[in-house]
Amino acid sequence: MSDERKTPEMRATMTDIERLRHSCAHVLATAILKIWPEAQFAAGPPVENGFYYDVDLPHRISPEDFEKIEAEMKKEIKANHSFERMEVSRNEALDLGKKGRLAALTDRDQPSKFKIDIIENIPEDETISLYRNGDFIDLCAGPHVMRTGNIGTFKLTSVASAYYKGDEKNPQLQRVYGTAFKTKKELDDYFTMLEEAKKRDHRKLGRELDIFVFDDDVGPGLPMFLPRGAVIVEELEKLAKETEFAAGYQRVRTPHIAREMLYKKSGHLPYYAESMFPPMVLEDRPPGLFGDRASRLVDTAGETPASRTAETAVLRDRYYLKAMNCPHHHKLFAAVPRSYRDLPLRLAEYGTCYRYEKSGELFGLMRVRSLQMNDAHLYMTPEQFEAEFNAVNEMYLNYFKLFGIEKYLMRFSTHDPSKLGQKFVDEPELWKQTEEMTRNVLKNSGLNYEEVPNEAAFYGPKIDVQVWSVIGREFTIATNQVDFAQPRNFDLRYKDKDNIDKIPICIHRAPLGTHERFIGFLIEHYAGNFPLWLSPEQVRILTIGDDAKVVDYSMSILQGLRGHQVRAEIDKTSDQINGKIQRAEQMKVHTMFVIGKRDMDAGAVSVRVHGKGNLGPKPRAEILSEILLSIKERRG
Ligand SMILES: [Zn+2]
Ligand SMILES: [Zn+2]
Repeated sequence: MSDERKTPEMRATMTDIERLRHSCAHVLATAILKIWPEAQFAAGPPVENGFYYDVDLPHRISPEDFEKIEAEMKKEIKANHSFERMEVSRNEALDLGKKGRLAALTDRDQPSKFKIDIIENIPEDETISLYRNGDFIDLCAGPHVMRTGNIGTFKLTSVASAYYKGDEKNPQLQRVYGTAFKTKKELDDYFTMLEEAKKRDHRKLGRELDIFVFDDDVGPGLPMFLPRGAVIVEELEKLAKETEFAAGYQRVRTPHIAREMLYKKSGHLPYYAESMFPPMVLEDRPPGLFGDRASRLVDTAGETPASRTAETAVLRDRYYLKAMNCPHHHKLFAAVPRSYRDLPLRLAEYGTCYRYEKSGELFGLMRVRSLQMNDAHLYMTPEQFEAEFNAVNEMYLNYFKLFGIEKYLMRFSTHDPSKLGQKFVDEPELWKQTEEMTRNVLKNSGLNYEEVPNEAAFYGPKIDVQVWSVIGREFTIATNQVDFAQPRNFDLRYKDKDNIDKIPICIHRAPLGTHERFIGFLIEHYAGNFPLWLSPEQVRILTIGDDAKVVDYSMSILQGLRGHQVRAEIDKTSDQINGKIQRAEQMKVHTMFVIGKRDMDAGAVSVRVHGKGNLGPKPRAEILSEILLSIKERRG
């Protein structure tokens, strides 16, 4: 049960932990009724990291009530009642509802009004079931754990208000949230992780470390990178460019806007229109500005043929900000005649896209309206698919290693044959072939993957790459897509060995996702303590005292570092050395050179590394070559 009714298939995919948490929601309702028998319940689904139950109750539940409720829940779990399923007819269910017996411990004066409403919205052909634990009976399709005693450990976490069915015209309910785990240790780890995540929140650290800002005048969801953030952006691009160059990719550059026709061809319009910024309509161009030839070239896309015929008519044209780079890249594939000898062709671009995310869904760098994507489109023959797809996966694994990502999962989404022509492009053979190929590669690669039916993209099977940060929080970083439809829509061709036109397969891939999301992830992952190669400020020089000779010596070291492209600064304040160190530590500067007269006389610097402390004096030439090597090898 949720705001949106889940289909029976969706319920079947409920994971073990979701089942456990949803069962705990029944126990929560049982406990609330023991204290407030008049409570009326609406929906109580599992959600990410826990569960909730919506309740209508004159008493305002507050966190002070949690102890009392949790005590009742513990009793119910200790009683180890079984979750007993009962199938009933619609009328039987309604009768119980009228007696107030649904989501209740006994018959009551008031009908179970929300449950009656839910029953009335259950499709005619669907079986209606009730679940009982102890005295508590609820309308529910399940599934649950076997007995209340199977619900390991739980904790109520918060209470909020929510409208019934999410509609503000409906009554306002109290939404009580909780979470549950199989073991006490998992529960403790979860709360420790939440504490740690709060400290590492990319929005908080992004501000404190001068990495990025939002500005009301610029607009919501449009992050701007400060110099310290731009450094990270550029280092990531450098990494991608080097990696892709070595893997035989070629770089391209494309504009940020395109005419409507391009997105009609790609199929993004009209289906994807809601996620795109509204079009810019250009009209009434002063004739002659571009000469007659230019006027003739203007296509009045989407307009009536009448306005298109006369050159003197009002010219109207619609342009969209690009929400994806693929259509531009397909056009580049098509720009040159291709033969099988040119394949695989790998076109890469850190492309900037714009997506119209709803303002309520914007979240720091994780959900934004402008994004720069580590994009590439690989065009190949079917015979080349396996090797190309493997190479893409290999690239992912190398990146994971570089960034110390130890846990990841590839979610391989496939199509549902019964939804061909609706949810999925109607090409049964191509679906079968590409899914087979993809599945085989995944199987043979030893990658950690799971197959998810019915979640493919419209055009072909896709793989969502999920990674876990060092503190165990999950992020979806990138999506790989196998695409057999767009190359057709764009009429992409290559000549095969026998000089016959063939359509290439296309792989869309973006291992580093978008700068925005990946940097948001890295901020949490590293808690802002970036490895030397990514560190916005790699070295800060801190002089002891203001002896002119020491300052000159320090300046010559600064110049030496910068001459080797090391991002180095010098603290010019007249503060005591401890103050300077403290400030550099606060900004998480990677390496500090502390320089006093004694260091100068020895031709050395005293090295201090953030998080590691004082490493003692080192000859200046030696520390410089160490730093350069560490940066070159992108070591931690
Ligand atoms: Zn249930
Ligand atoms: Zn693409």
